[in-house]
Amino acid sequence: MSSIAVLNAGSSSIKFAVFQSAAEPLLLLKGQIEGIGATPRAKLSDAKGNVVLQEELPREGFDHAAATQTMMRIGARWLDGKDIVAAGHRVVHGGAEYSAPLLLTDQIIDRLAAFVPLAPLHQPHNLAVIRAIRSAYPQLPQTACFDTAFHRSQPPIAQTFAIPRKFSDDGLRRYGFHGISYEYVAGRLRAVAPAVAEGRVVIAHLGNGASLCAVRNGRSVASTMGFTAADGLMMGTRCGSIDPGVLVHLMDQYGFGARELEDFIYRRSGLLGVSGISSDMRTLRASRDPAAKEAIALFIYRIVREIGSMAAALGGLDALVFTAGIGENDAATRAEVAAGCGWLGLTLDDPANQRGETLISAPQSRVGAFVIPTNEELEIAKRTAEIIRGAPAT
Ligand code: AMP
Repeated sequence: MSSIAVLNAGSSSIKFAVFQSAAEPLLLLKGQIEGIGATPRAKLSDAKGNVVLQEELPREGFDHAAATQTMMRIGARWLDGKDIVAAGHRVVHGGAEYSAPLLLTDQIIDRLAAFVPLAPLHQPHNLAVIRAIRSAYPQLPQTACFDTAFHRSQPPIAQTFAIPRKFSDDGLRRYGFHGISYEYVAGRLRAVAPAVAEGRVVIAHLGNGASLCAVRNGRSVASTMGFTAADGLMMGTRCGSIDPGVLVHLMDQYGFGARELEDFIYRRSGLLGVSGISSDMRTLRASRDPAAKEAIALFIYRIVREIGSMAAALGGLDALVFTAGIGENDAATRAEVAAGCGWLGLTLDDPANQRGETLISAPQSRVGAFVIPTNEELEIAKRTAEIIRGAPAT
């Protein structure tokens, strides 16, 4: 039996999943190596989520390449007999040119390296794992699915900043992210509500990272994330859209340099920064501290305002879809967002929302509301299976 490995490399971790290769891939194993560069450890779970292995790993020289080797060794031990026939990678940046998943070649890997300055926190780790696999298993087909690709269907005006043209020509433009999740959710919506999926839909990916995507007939027309994944909504630790003058002020008056600005924007703001308590929605919902309530209120306010902006880009709204950790699990967030969208014609079915059903809008609601769990690993496995089925022999 053949299987597909799906890899998602971050700065200090590599998450992986193994699927039985088929048109509808079936999850076999899930795992991660965490603490790369500090205290590395491996964890592996079966398809039901039962932990089947936990292992401390040597610290000395344990980088992304070593982590990749360890992962393949552990995976092979557990998979016994189920050959891995391809590796599919989540790659954060496909630049302006890659609008679909693809089979990786040496030339394309070099091209992806040119996008490192566009995503310095993620792209180098994605490439380190791709290269480590290429050197250990040169014959293994590898694919890349890009977080940016789904958004390349946006009209040029939605991808453009109002800045001097020279900088736009240099690549300073809106790329959009969370595209693998949006592609998966848009596909699921097509399966559960085909007529709705042809219309004007806003998908709200509300997790630790959060963004909205305006989708018409399954294609992205606008999104809240832009040049980086810091733009748009308030997030767990990211501030989202901010007056650019604030950044100049922080440099002038607080002596901030680039790294301090990065820390401020990506790690000290959002739900964590405003509450002073946590970036985790569950902790904030459980807290009686007024600062926790303020942080949640601001999170909701920003979502509602940006839904208005997405609806304007679509020329109206037929459906709103919630996904990711908060969107899938926090009925209160869905109810509060929906209340702010009453003016667009959205009325929730409260009991259906409490139960987290797929369709949560009331029968008389002009705008449909849905909860559709995302599954980025499955999307990568599917696309990888499609690519290797059509791939020419190497
Ligand atoms: P993600 O990045 O998609 O894994 O989402 C992480 C976010 O989802 C965190 O803010 C969690 O607190 C939130 N989350 C996960 N489960 C729940 C839940 N049952 N209720 C409320 N928030 C949740």
